[in-house]
Amino acid sequence: MPSSAVVWDPALLAYDLGDDHPFNPVRLDLTVRLATALGVLDDVPLLAPDPAGETELLRAHTPEYIEAVRRAPMAGHDVGHGLGTPDNPVFVDMHDASALVVGSTLLGARCLVEGRATRAVGIAGGLHHAMPGHASGFCVYNDCAVAVSWLLDQGFDRIAYVDTDVHHGDGVQAAFYDDPRVLTVSLHQHPFTLFPGTGYAAETGAGEADGTAVNVALPPGTGDAGWLRAFHAVVPSVLERFRPQILITQCGVDSHAEDPLADLSLSVDGHRRIYRTLRELADTHADGRWLAVGGGGYQLIRVVPRSWTHLLATVLDRDVAPSTPVPATWAEQVREKAPNAALPGTMTDGGADSFSPWGDGDDDPVDVAVRETRRAVFPSYGLDPDDPRD
Ligand SMILES: [Zn+2]
Repeated sequence: MPSSAVVWDPALLAYDLGDDHPFNPVRLDLTVRLATALGVLDDVPLLAPDPAGETELLRAHTPEYIEAVRRAPMAGHDVGHGLGTPDNPVFVDMHDASALVVGSTLLGARCLVEGRATRAVGIAGGLHHAMPGHASGFCVYNDCAVAVSWLLDQGFDRIAYVDTDVHHGDGVQAAFYDDPRVLTVSLHQHPFTLFPGTGYAAETGAGEADGTAVNVALPPGTGDAGWLRAFHAVVPSVLERFRPQILITQCGVDSHAEDPLADLSLSVDGHRRIYRTLRELADTHADGRWLAVGGGGYQLIRVVPRSWTHLLATVLDRDVAPSTPVPATWAEQVREKAPNAALPGTMTDGGADSFSPWGDGDDDPVDVAVRETRRAVFPSYGLDPDDPRD
């Protein structure tokens, strides 16, 4: 049985963009409370991270930007670097809180490198939009890019990053676009229709890294079955050929039908199926090494806590049955914070977690995306884009 590390400290709740901002840390708090109430975290030590230091932040960011983040709370107007915008408002202790998020993902990576665990999960991480010199899409520092860079220095030279957030994982892709040692895969709502407007199938990597950026641009409205059909048509084959030594997954849950910021249509059952699939892929193709982080997700009460409880449970091999009732103790805690919220009764949305595989002769709306992506990258791996067996 693989050992699993869980990184969590309530200090991570300090990454708080404000009460009116969609990225509200209550989603993390309610997730940990739900997982605890269900017994998922019983006897599991929660590892508290230290903030990432300057040396680590410089792996993904410019010195000018880091200095701007440090000074932003005192600087007043015209901070620049994407800071002080509606998406990325300046907040007290912004640098320290953001560095702690990076530290949480680094701690997970460190556990795997030091052999303390084969899997690690930190739901506070996943800030995949942050760029070297500017904040973007609610993300100040790119914990994913820092962790990948650090792992490269620990001797890993085939790292796979798979991003299941509804938004394109643009910051991580950009950081390693010309690095053949890092495979970035992102499935997301089509960039015509959603921030950040990148993530086309034609973005495949540069130079000798051509083929190591993989993008699947899904049509709005895609549900569990379509998402899983597209994933299975692309990702397992690429991972099998890339042969990663470690799988890192950004597990944003803003792909849910009830998410207020995007237009895919997944359920918590679809999310649960995705996590079980990622676990299986890590076991099959990455020597079991799996580092999972959070990401987006803005239905703070009905969706994020349940989906990420399933994530924690999956990493810990303590899978929670979909029919499991939501504990009354958790519901009481939620009502204290949000008296009028409609609460879920169980750990399922009643969604089907089955799908029909690509190549079955049906004409699913996601098949356009599947064909585009396979034709863009499969030849780089010696795979036939038009043969469903590949
Ligand atoms: Zn997102």
